[in-house]
Amino acid sequence: MLIGITGTPGTGKTSVTKLLEEEPYYQVIHLNELIKDEKLYSEVDAERDCVVADMDMVYDRILELQDKSYTVTIVDSHLSHHIADIVIVLRTDPAVLKERLEKRNYSEEKVKENLEAEALDIILAEAVEWCEKVFEINTTEESAEKTLKNIMRIIGGLRNGNTG
Ligand code: ADP
Ligand code: MN
Repeated sequence: MLIGITGTPGTGKTSVTKLLEEEPYYQVIHLNELIKDEKLYSEVDAERDCVVADMDMVYDRILELQDKSYTVTIVDSHLSHHIADIVIVLRTDPAVLKERLEKRNYSEEKVKENLEAEALDIILAEAVEWCEKVFEINTTEESAEKTLKNIMRIIGGLRNGNTG
């Protein structure tokens, strides 16, 4: 089972998937690192300080790396809803997200862009449009551990309903 953990930067994807990695049966792919390490991009956007991923290369690589000896493969990335059919979208109140993003060395512009994306539900809308199953978890007032439990509960439910 391939599941994406997506959401605007700062909503907690990497923190919570680092916890998930400690659990048996879960393979976790931190996609943003993979894209940089393996240069799975077509362009470097110097102005916005990011790379433009080559999604065909990314998709092929995920399928290669997916290890079927694990029950679930998790893709951690704000791009994962372009890859997986089942996704969990992490959400954070923009006021709290602002504090989280300001702790990173993001430009003012980049912080603003991400806060707007979160306020406008951009990733959720994309996920609903493209994915078969979409779940939402709000991380605003929760600990990463609680978010982890919520994710595992959702996946447990999916597995029980999944007889194929
Ligand atoms: P992302 O990978 O989505 O960009 P990160 O996990 O790198 O996000 O950063 C999220 C920040 O928010 C971390 O500093 C983390 O400690 C904090 N945080 C607060 N509450 C939560 C939560 N419930 N789940 C995950 N992270 C949280
Ligand atoms: Mn991350």
